[in-house]
Amino acid sequence: MERKKAVIVGAGIGGLALGIRLQAKGFDTTIVEALDGAGGRANVRIQDGHTFDLGPTVITVPHFIEELFALERDGGDEHTADFPAEMLRPEARITKGSSAGPATKKYVDLVPILPFYRIYFDDGTFFDYDGDPTSTRRQIAQLAPEDLDGYERFHADAKAIFERGFIELGYRYFDDISSMVTILPDLLRLGAVRTLFSFVSKYFQSDKMRQVFSFETLLVGGSPLRVPAIYAMIHFVEKTWGIHYAMGGTGALVRGFVQKFKDLGGVLRLSSPVEKILVTDGDGDAPSGLFSRRIARGVRLVGGEELTADLVVSNADYANTYMKLIEKNARVLQSDLRVKLTAQSMSLFVIYFGFKDDPARPLDLRHHNIILGPRYEGLLQEIFVDKTLAKDFSQYLHIPTLTDPTLAPPGCHSAYTLIPVPNKAKGDLNWQEIGEGFKEKIYAFLEERGYIPDLRKRITTEFFLTPDYFEKDLQSHLGNAFGPEPTLPQSAWFRPHNKSEDVERLYLVGAGTQPGAGTPAVMMSAKMTARTIASDYSAFVRG
Ligand SMILES: Cc1cc2nc3c(=O)[nH]c(=O)nc-3n(C[C@H](O)[C@H](O)[C@H](O)COP(=O)(O)OP(=O)(O)OC[C@H]3O[C@@H](n4cnc5c(N)ncnc54)[C@H](O)[C@@H]3O)c2cc1C
Repeated sequence: MERKKAVIVGAGIGGLALGIRLQAKGFDTTIVEALDGAGGRANVRIQDGHTFDLGPTVITVPHFIEELFALERDGGDEHTADFPAEMLRPEARITKGSSAGPATKKYVDLVPILPFYRIYFDDGTFFDYDGDPTSTRRQIAQLAPEDLDGYERFHADAKAIFERGFIELGYRYFDDISSMVTILPDLLRLGAVRTLFSFVSKYFQSDKMRQVFSFETLLVGGSPLRVPAIYAMIHFVEKTWGIHYAMGGTGALVRGFVQKFKDLGGVLRLSSPVEKILVTDGDGDAPSGLFSRRIARGVRLVGGEELTADLVVSNADYANTYMKLIEKNARVLQSDLRVKLTAQSMSLFVIYFGFKDDPARPLDLRHHNIILGPRYEGLLQEIFVDKTLAKDFSQYLHIPTLTDPTLAPPGCHSAYTLIPVPNKAKGDLNWQEIGEGFKEKIYAFLEERGYIPDLRKRITTEFFLTPDYFEKDLQSHLGNAFGPEPTLPQSAWFRPHNKSEDVERLYLVGAGTQPGAGTPAVMMSAKMTARTIASDYSAFVRG
C-alpha cells in the first residue's frame, strides 16, 4: 500500500513521540521545528561547561518511554495493552539501579530518584516524600499526628481515583460529549469533580499535609485550588512507578527520541518555523462558505517553502495553532473568540545557575526540592486568578548534579529554581524591567534561609527565563508554560480535541490536547492522536 505522508509541526516530546508512532504505523513523517534544537520545553542550554535542562526534570512512568523505544518501523504500535499486567505488579516500581527498560537502554539510561521530593515548609521543617507508606506515616506522626487517620482514608480514595481515572480511562479519547456523560456518575461517586484542594482538605487538618498532598499539579500547570480532584491520581502515579532521572539530563532522553525517530526513517528539520498550515476546499481552492470542505494539505514554512502532506499534526501551542497558523476562513468552531475564551495555564520564572561546591558546607538539599512560601491558597489565588506578582513565592529547586555530576565542571553544581508566576493575560508585568530584581530576591532568599549559603559569591554562570520566553521562543499564547489550564471545564471532552473539528486531516498532539500537560500525559496524547489517525487512515485510502 502507498505510504502516506505526515507533517508534524513542532519537535516537543509530544511531536517526537507521535513521529515515532507514525513511523511505526507506516507513515513517512517529517517533523518541522522552529527552534534550532529538539525537545520544545525540554530543550537544553550548555553554558560555561554547565548543562541545563530548561524544562521537565521529574520523569514518571518509565514504561511509557520503553513502549516508544520498543517500536519498529512499519511494525504497528499496538503490540501491548496500555497497562500490561507486569506494569501493575508491585515490583514494576524500580527503586535501585537502572530503571530503563531493555529498549530504552539502547538510547538512554534512567535511574530512580529518592526521595521523590523534599518539601520544605516556611518554618524550616520538611517532609521527604518517597511514596513509601511507612516513612510517610512516620513523618506525618512527627509533623501532624492529627492527620494519621486522614492519610489512610486519603490513600484509599486517591487509589480508587487512580484506578478508574488513570488505569481504566487514561487513554480514553473524549471525542464527543456522550463519551463524557458516561463517566460522569463514576467521577461524582469518587468525589473526583470537586477541586483537588477541597478533596485533600477533607482528609487532612494541617496546612502542611494539605500542601504535601496537593502541590504536584503545579508541575503540570494547575492550581490545586482549581484542578478537579481527579488529579489526586498524580500522587498515585508517582507512588506506583516512582520518579526517575535520565542520565545526562532530560536532554539525553530527547536525544534518544530524536535518534529513535530517525532510526525508524523519520525526517527532522530544525530551524524551520511554520508560517501557515495550508487548508483548501475539496477543489484545491481557499474555503469560501460555512459549509465548504476544509482539508489540510501541508504547511508553508517562513521563507515560502511548502511541504505537502496527506495529513498535518500540530504539536505547537493550541491557541496559536488555530489563531496564527490557520486562516480565519478555515475555522468555524475554533474561532478567535472561542480560543480566547480558553483559560491558559500559569507561566514561570526560571533561574538557571551554576555554583561552586563548598566541601566545608555540603548541601543539605535533595535532587528535587519544593520550597513552600508563607502562604499557599492566597498565593495561588494571586498567580492564577488575580494574575499579580505576589511579594512572597514558592519555588521548585532542582539540583541534578547531586545525582549526575557530569552536568557541571568538577567541583560545581548545575541547578535551576522555578517560580510559578502569572501568565500574560493581564499583561501589566514588564519582565525585562523586573526580571533582574526578581532574580536577586530569590538568590537572597536562598542565602538567608541557609538553603545555599553565600550563593551569589559561588555563582559560576547564570541566566533566567521569563514569561517572555514562553511567549516568543516557544510561541505560547500569553506566555503559558503548560497549555490550557487544567480545570474541570477544560478537561476531557472540554479540552481541545486531538482531531480538529474544523479541518479534515488536521490533528493536534501535546500538552494542549487530551489528556493534558506533563511528559507522561504528552506521551499518552501521542498514542491517542496516533490511534485516531490510524482509524481515519482507511477513509483517506477510500476517498
Ligand atoms: C520549566 C518547566 C518544567 C517542567 N517540569 C516538568 C516535570 O518535571 N515533569 C513533567 O512531566 N512535566 C514538566 N513540565 C511540563 C512538560 O515539559 C510539558 O508538558 C511537555 O514537555 C510539553 O510537550 P509538548 O510536546 O506538548 O510541547 P512543547 O515542548 O511546547 O513543544 C512544542 C514545539 O512546537 C514548536 N513550535 C511552536 N510553533 C511552531 C511553528 N510555528 N513552527 C514550528 N515549530 C513550532 C516549539 O518550538 C516547540 O519545540 C515542565 C514544563 C516547564 C516549562
